[in-house]
Amino acid sequence: MHHTVFLSIGTNLGERVKNLQRALEGLAGFCRMEATSSLYETDPWGYTDQPAFYNLAVRVQTALEPDGLLKALKALEAEIGRVPGFRYGPRLIDLDILTYDDLQLAIPGLTIPHPMLAERAFVLVPLAEIAPLLLVPGLNETVQELLDKLDCAGIRKVMEA
Ligand code: AMP
Repeated sequence: MHHTVFLSIGTNLGERVKNLQRALEGLAGFCRMEATSSLYETDPWGYTDQPAFYNLAVRVQTALEPDGLLKALKALEAEIGRVPGFRYGPRLIDLDILTYDDLQLAIPGLTIPHPMLAERAFVLVPLAEIAPLLLVPGLNETVQELLDKLDCAGIRKVMEA
């Protein structure tokens, strides 16, 4: 378990708390969980005609390299999102790599730090709870500094860590 990784976990379909629990249990198969943020509910934006999102952030240790970690996360998404009787059910869970050590990486299908990190308050609010002083590689700003520039309206804490 050599690498420190921050992940974002989100869900807006089905039994959201159950989806998150399954994600956390599944992650334990290839990560050591070190910190978990509170749970936040976020009004949907873009397409507003959909249920509100539940979001949280976690800090984990993993032995997996970035591409192996992404594969494991996609497999876990598929496992949680699988609907009996359908080959491809609705996506119930979204697992994103936010940062991986102090790595900067851009290969097909994987960009680290996550390219939308600095623009998404629903990612930065939970992340700032567990890593406010984390310097985001390539941006030279901390998580808290990035968050201070965003509008956090519509993001509510629904369960304390
Ligand atoms: P989305 O469903 O919008 O979260 O997009 C998922 C896709 O984004 C995946 O298929 C990945 O190949 C790609 N991707 C690029 N960078 C990342 C990252 N840092 N973490 C997770 N997925 C990523």
